[in-house]
Parts: sequence; C-alpha cells; structure tokens
Amino acid sequence: MSHGPARPPASNSAAPWLPYARQSIDEADIAAVVEVLRSDWLTTGPAVPRFEEAVAAFTGARYGVAVSSGTGALHAAMHAAGIQPGDEVILPPITFVATANAVVFQGGTPVFADVDPETLLLDPAAAEARITPRTKAIVAVDYAGQPCDYDELRAIADRHGLVLIADACHSLGGTYRGRPVGTLADLTVFSFHPVKHITTGEGGMVMTDRPDYRDRMTAFRNHGIDTDHRQRAESGSWFYEMNELGYNYRITDFQCALGLSQLSKLPDWIRRRREIAGSYDLALGALSTLRPFKRRKDVDHAYHLYVTRLDFAALNTDRRKVFRSFLEQAIGVNVHYIPVHLQPYYRRRWGTDAGLCPVAEAAYQHLLTLPLFPTMKDQDVQRVLEACRGIGEL
Ligand SMILES: *Cc1c(COP(=O)(O)O)cnc(C)c1O
Repeated sequence: MSHGPARPPASNSAAPWLPYARQSIDEADIAAVVEVLRSDWLTTGPAVPRFEEAVAAFTGARYGVAVSSGTGALHAAMHAAGIQPGDEVILPPITFVATANAVVFQGGTPVFADVDPETLLLDPAAAEARITPRTKAIVAVDYAGQPCDYDELRAIADRHGLVLIADACHSLGGTYRGRPVGTLADLTVFSFHPVKHITTGEGGMVMTDRPDYRDRMTAFRNHGIDTDHRQRAESGSWFYEMNELGYNYRITDFQCALGLSQLSKLPDWIRRRREIAGSYDLALGALSTLRPFKRRKDVDHAYHLYVTRLDFAALNTDRRKVFRSFLEQAIGVNVHYIPVHLQPYYRRRWGTDAGLCPVAEAAYQHLLTLPLFPTMKDQDVQRVLEACRGIGEL
C-alpha cells in the first residue's frame, strides 16, 4: 500500500504536498499516550478492554477484540469462523490484498466473486454463484466506506450455512438501513492504520455478538493461551493452557489510549468527510471527465476514500498522464485497488487469471482516488477540483 504523507520526487510544485489520506493527532492524543507510558501496564493492561468497550458502544456490537493490525483482525476473524485447509471463502477482488491473504493464512482457498459495476461492492448474486460444498464464509468489503447489501448477503449466508464476515476497514461510522457497521455481519473487522478513520499507529479490532467467537479470538491474539499475563498476575497463578495454535497479535495499552482519544473525535471527522465528499460530488457533476461512483440510497457512507472513475471517452489521455499531472501539482491521488486476483502471487499460486472477474478488471482501468481526510481545508478541496478541471486539457 503506498500511502501517507511522503511527497513524490516527481513533484516540483511550490504548493504544499496534499496526501490522499493522513492522520489527525492533537495534544489530547499525545497526553493520553504519555499517561499510559507512565503507568504500570504498557501491554495487556486496562486500556485494552476500555478501548474495546468504547468501540463496541460506538458501533452497537456486543464485543470487540483489539489486535495489532487490521490484517491480524482479519486473520483472527478467519480463525473464529473456523476456516481450515480446504475450506473456501468468497470475497471480492476490489480490496486490499490482506483480505485474501487472511484466508490463505488459515490454509483456506480464496474464491473471488465479481462486484457491482455501479458501486464496486461484492455482487450478492455473483457471490452466491461461487458457492460450493466446501464454502465456509463470505467476506463483504465495504469499499471506500459504503456498506454492502447486508440483508441480501445475510439471506445467502443463512441459506447455505455460511459465516458472514465484514471487512469494514473503510466503513467505521457507516450505517446500512439505519443499522451501524459493526452489527451487520457475524464478525466485523476494523483497521486503525494512519490512513483510516481513527488510528492507533498500527492496530485493528474484530466486533462480534458471539461470546464463543470473542473467546477464540482473545486466545488467538495471545498464542492460543487461555489467560493473559495480567489475569495471572491478578489471580496469583502461574498455570496456563494452550488449547489451539495462536499468534502474538496483541496491541499495546498506549496504542489503545490513542485509539480511545481518537474515537471521541470520530463523529466530527465523519461529518467533515461527508462535507468534503459533498463538495466533490457537486463540482464533478459539472465535469464529463471524472465521475463519482453511485451511492446506495439506504446507507450512510463513511467515506474512507473518495473514488472516481475516469471517462476515457471524454479524455484524450491515459491514466498515467492524469496521475502524473496530479503529482506534479503536489496532489496525492491513488488507485484503489489493483484487483487482488491479478497479483502475481494469486495468479501463480491460485491460478486466478484475467477474465475471472470482468467487472472488477474493467473498473480498475478507470479508478482514481482523490485526497480526502478531515483536516483538509476548503482551499485544499478547491485545489483538487482545479486540477480535476485541468485534466480535460491534458
Ligand atoms: C487497511 C485495510 C486492511 C488491512 O489493515 P492493516 O491495519 O493495514 O493491517 C484490510 N482490508 C482493507 C479493505 C483495508 O483497507
């Protein structure tokens, strides 16, 4: 993933570098971290359950299990779902590679199903068509921050006895038919990487309503051991048992303190993300060269990304030139995503060639992500829109 504030060498513009995404850290965040650094518990301490309970309260889920990354959270969710060698897991190719990798970590087989051309969200009918007797789970990816069609996916999962997992790394704070992301699947995964809605540096969390899933993931993040260091210290016991194979996916207390402090600002940040997206929508509506993707009427979009589609019929140029012209103006555009099944590893190891998901493959050629983060100023938005208007002349 190329993200973050790095300015590329291509840019010799005098304008300040505008990344496509970046974190917002204030003095309250810094004080929260420092307070934990002065305390007794740097890891497996009290800030971890406090952060888990706060995210659970925010999303309406019963439990949260915090881990060291969104990727670790996806892996923990696959473990909770019982994915084993030979099991198939259905997922869309328009996502970050980690979604598919987590299936492979468990020895499962990733099965790519195509997306809806209007939203680039997993097409429920395409997902259902990929089900075989070996299918165990479906992963829905809330691409760009727009929740998938969870009622439809739930009906399919129930019909075939599958676990429904949400990769909601883009959609913290979104809703579907009035219900919050975090309550829409059996297991919901968030990432707290610096480009996401809130950050812990690195970090992630899985939300679930099921105590058995929670217990399996709590052991999984700690080597598969059924108690952690603090629980044993408090009960004055040395005994522990490892019942399943796990990993060290623990998150630290100072990261969770940062996450808690960040969470208090999330509602304002989402409001600002929607406001910026609204400005983009309005201005791009007057252009023929760049178009926004369709928004479902029954969702509140969380706008992790503002993704557009380049209309080559209205342009004399290709995406490389457009991309370069933004960078030359010190504007950090990006492409989300190269379809995962076209990555060399997946082609080689899983034989997933071009033609497997034609809608995703065609859409990929047109994708361009514009900068979007809550501390962007109105004049930053205007600068991006000026550059958008300029691509007609390239
Ligand atoms: C960010 C992201 C991940 C991985 O999260 P990390 O915290 O970077 O490990 C997984 N899936 C999607 C869709 C993401 O955007």
